[in-house]
This record gives sequence, C-alpha cells and structure tokens, in this order.
Amino acid sequence: MKLTFLGTGTSIGVPEMCCNCQTCLSTDPHDKRLRTSALIETGKGNIVIDCGPDFRQQTLRAGVESIDAILLTHEHYDHIGGLDDLRPYCANSEMPIYARQDVIQHIMERIPYCFGKEKKPRTPTMKLIEITPGKTFTAAGVEVMPIQVMHGNMPILGFRIGGLTYITDMKTIDGSNFELIRGTKILVVNALHTKEHPTHQNVRQAVLFAEKINAEQTWLIHMSHRAGLHKVMNAKLPPHVSFAHDGLTINF
Ligand SMILES: [Zn+2]
Ligand SMILES: [Zn+2]
Ligand SMILES: [Zn+2]
Repeated sequence: MKLTFLGTGTSIGVPEMCCNCQTCLSTDPHDKRLRTSALIETGKGNIVIDCGPDFRQQTLRAGVESIDAILLTHEHYDHIGGLDDLRPYCANSEMPIYARQDVIQHIMERIPYCFGKEKKPRTPTMKLIEITPGKTFTAAGVEVMPIQVMHGNMPILGFRIGGLTYITDMKTIDGSNFELIRGTKILVVNALHTKEHPTHQNVRQAVLFAEKINAEQTWLIHMSHRAGLHKVMNAKLPPHVSFAHDGLTINF
C-alpha cells in the first residue's frame, strides 16, 4: 500500500496569513503545509483520511482520479471543510464516509442541503457510515481499525491499516487504545509546535509517544508555523522520527 501526505499543516495551514515569521516566509517547499489529510492507495482502491478546506487543491495536485472511501477523524473544520467538493468523486455512486456517530450528526447539521428531503441537486451524494472505536471495518478492500484518542477532552479517531497507524489532533491516549497501536511499523502522529497546548501534542510529546510505540519510522503531521523550519527541525529530531511534508509518499 502507499500513503501520500496530502497536507501536513495545522488548522490554519502554513504559511499563516498576516504572519512574517521565518517559517511563513520560507521559500523551501517543505515549509508549505496545507491542512492535514492523507491518501492511501490500497491496491484495491483509494482511501482519503479527512477532507479539509484544501481538499480540492490537494486532490488536483496529487492527481487523485477516484476515491472509494473517506475516513474522518473528527468534525473540526480543518478535517471536514472540503466535503462539498466531493461532488466529482461521487457523480456516479454514493461516497462512503466513515465516522463516529457524533461526527455524522455534525455533518448533517452543517451541510443539511446534502441529505434527505433537503438534498439539493449537484450536491455530493454521501453515505454516512457510523464506526465504533476498536471495531474493524472494510474500506477500499482493506481492514481498518478505528482507535480512540483524546483531542483535549474530546474523543476522536485514529486509524490503523495493516502496519500503518495514522493519528492526528491527539493530546493523549488511554492504555487499552494504546494496545491497538502496538507493533505498528509506520506511525503518523501530530506535533503542533514546541510549546504546551491543551488539545494537541507538541513536538517533544510526539517524540516521547514515538519512542513508546517504537515504530520503524514515525512521521509528524499537523504542524503550525511555530513548529519551525522543516530542515532545521528534522536535523534535531531523533533518528526514525521526521517531520512529514506535503506530497511525501511512503510504501507500507
Ligand atoms: Zn486539526
Ligand atoms: Zn508564521
Ligand atoms: Zn481538531
């Protein structure tokens, strides 16, 4: 299978508007971070994890011609703001969207014109499918394990697909859910910046988490401009832990 990082930035993206910091002014393409999202090519189909406001630009850039399933981690705008742009991908069939029940509820409230009696023509045709943490389901021909993690005091989902575990927007995880990650070979996990934050891991906490999981390689995502320059930070991080960057692909 192949993972492509469609975006590796925090909710506002990098560069941030109205900011003249070193990272926002950087000309290194590795420092341009669209909102966090990933494409997984399973060999039997394509999965996209999260569908944020940069979805259109990301799928055009990556040349994504079809999508078989969308997995949603949670309902924050930077993770679902692009759902309306799914239209070209569900012109011929319903798009399965896998999410927690509370996320499904939020989506139906935010874009009611896509559902039921209120459904307007030329809106995306989505099939919202409830998933439960700890219970596997099949998407694009592969088994997916949803794993509950805490985004501050908000329970959200990470996903394990074979040797890959993908977690974004996590602050903490409890022991029983931690067990579901054990043995993962490729870990993708969020690292917001270098300071303490109430709902996100910072870089130091992400490195400690990576050490606990002890994957062959850990890729950090959902970085803000205050996480620093890609090149500088990657030189400081331990071996086997790196900042991911938009467009990076890995096989697993
Ligand atoms: Zn986020
Ligand atoms: Zn900045
Ligand atoms: Zn969030």
